Amino acid sequence: MSALIRLSGLTRHYQMGEHVVRALAGVDLEIHAGEFVAITGPSGSGKSTLMYLLGCLDRPTGGTYWLDGEEVSCLSDMQLSRTRNRDIGFVFQHYNLLSELNVLENIALGLVYRGVQGRERLATAETLANRMGLEGRHHHSATELSGGQMQRVAICRALASGPHLLLCDEPTGNLDSVTGREIMEVFHELHAQGHTIVIVTHDPKLAAQAQRIIHIEDGQIQSDECRDTTEKVSRPPETRSPPQAVRWVDIARIAIREGLLAHKLRSMLTMLGMVFGIASVIAMTAITEGGKQQQLEQIRQIGLNNIQVIDPQLDGERLRQARQRNPFGISDRDIDAIRRELQDIEGLASWKQLKADVSRDRIRLDSAQVLGVSGDFEKVVNFAVGQGRFLNERDALEHRRVCVLGAAIAEAIGIADSPIGESLVIGDQPFVVVGVMQNRPFTASTVKDVNIVNRNLDVYIPYPALARYFPRIQRAGVYDAISLRMATTEQLLPDSQHLERVLRSLHADAADFFVSVPLENLRQSQKTKEVFNIIITVIAGMSLLVGGIGIMNIMLASVSERTREIGIRRAVGATRREILKQFLAEACVISVIGGMLGVLTGVVGGELVALVFQFPVAFSSLIMAISVGVATAVGIGFGLYPAWIAARLDPVDALRG
Ligand code: ADP
Ligand code: MG
Repeated sequence: MSALIRLSGLTRHYQMGEHVVRALAGVDLEIHAGEFVAITGPSGSGKSTLMYLLGCLDRPTGGTYWLDGEEVSCLSDMQLSRTRNRDIGFVFQHYNLLSELNVLENIALGLVYRGVQGRERLATAETLANRMGLEGRHHHSATELSGGQMQRVAICRALASGPHLLLCDEPTGNLDSVTGREIMEVFHELHAQGHTIVIVTHDPKLAAQAQRIIHIEDGQIQSDECRDTTEKVSRPPETRSPPQAVRWVDIARIAIREGLLAHKLRSMLTMLGMVFGIASVIAMTAITEGGKQQQLEQIRQIGLNNIQVIDPQLDGERLRQARQRNPFGISDRDIDAIRRELQDIEGLASWKQLKADVSRDRIRLDSAQVLGVSGDFEKVVNFAVGQGRFLNERDALEHRRVCVLGAAIAEAIGIADSPIGESLVIGDQPFVVVGVMQNRPFTASTVKDVNIVNRNLDVYIPYPALARYFPRIQRAGVYDAISLRMATTEQLLPDSQHLERVLRSLHADAADFFVSVPLENLRQSQKTKEVFNIIITVIAGMSLLVGGIGIMNIMLASVSERTREIGIRRAVGATRREILKQFLAEACVISVIGGMLGVLTGVVGGELVALVFQFPVAFSSLIMAISVGVATAVGIGFGLYPAWIAARLDPVDALRG
């Protein structure tokens, strides 16, 4: 029968600066299935080194190791991990239980790395725990147990995935002699059931219980004494489920419970960077997006292709000087000049406004906005009557006292239902209502030189009627504004510049008008906002970077704090890749939660800003999704290095601490 373990010229050297420590200096050894072997030797003789090599936790410097006929030296990390998981159970002197887990979870640790489902794992662990006399202790934390109980849990863990071979490195070294003997009893029972047992011990009395005693000194076998020749019982091969990759739920659970929840405060502080970064992006983009949408609405209200000539409403000395050069302000002379100089005018309107009381029966509206309009007002301001008709040329020619009301005015004066033909008094003049405008939603503009007025509060009368029936204020201009609607948008800017030159000379350089292109102003303000957007993006990027560095920092701390845990997981069969996944998942969870909290904070913050400062806000679910995605990417990006460090840890170094 071929040996279960066969070593040939096995060496393990450690480079310690200048000189080489020969922890194992050429070991030849065969151990057969079903043997009970004790290894003894003074401290530092290489016993643990040998055990780690036998347990596939370490690679030899030289020589060969066949385990069950397979040469271990050529196996990949993945294959070695699978071998540890499937064929080898390790029991350590210091128990090496995970304090975050309870007894059953500790026992089932190796099964996690076989992809066994949670319920099945617990069932296996329960059976083993009961067999080992741990009834009633299932849900205790490992730290609440006595030494003997902890070692029983460790033995259960070693047995959980049903290996042939148990490797025990001084399993009784930390126990009193009575408990030590009890644990030895357990090994005898396991041996009787067919397990192959290799046990390192200092205690000659315990060693004497073994069938075979191997004595090591200075990394070499000094004696190998077979004391018992009773037949070796070989365990019938057990049928076990084929190993599968560790399940994602388990990875997530480890990340959340053992990473995140075990250090709640730390995790929360780490998330803060993420939260602020994402929240500022969400809030800021909502505010800029809200502004943009509002401006689109405003452009729609003003009309896209407008050029306006506006009276700046001077007063005092400046008004006097302006009128000296150009006595009538904006007037019909300007309209003639405009028609002469510009092509492609689709519509032209001019108006003069004044404040006058409007009353009907007992209802009286103080200082309503009355506009004397002429030209194509409806077309130019992109506004239409809802009932009746708008003012026409005959109204103007005959100086008729007729009016068209804004929807809100009609409502306020109490004639919204059947307004046409109703009479009312504007100032001290009787007027007849001929039409009511459609209701137009109104938002105030924050853009310079773009005046959006609430047209629902206007009262329109023919300009000639205003000129005839309302007294002219001294030095007032003829019109407050002339508004042009052009056929296209392309020529707006050159046209407006040309117009400005023409009118300036016509007005003898009086500063009594300015030319405005609302669309151009809106474009300008959007450009400023674009700069603002870039700044936001940079700030957000920086805070995400800081958040990412925070994650990296905390993950590095976590890795170095959990070195031993990593070693234990590796010993029960976790591959490098699985350790990597575990720490990446932890970084991921921090950043995903951080991202989501950030979105929440951003929405709440944005709404608050909107409420307090009366900004319009528009949240975009796309941006929210992208933010969480970016946060996750940052988490993965910055978690990669610490996770790689964790995965790269040498299991033996990790276990030796
Ligand atoms: P034992 O378990 O018999 O007490 P070990 O196998 O732990 O002995 O150690 C054998 C020798 O190898 C000792 O001299 C120890 O100092 C050395 N050794 C073990 N691990 C390392 C290491 N990682 N680096 C350097 N020397 C080591
Ligand atoms: Mg040792």
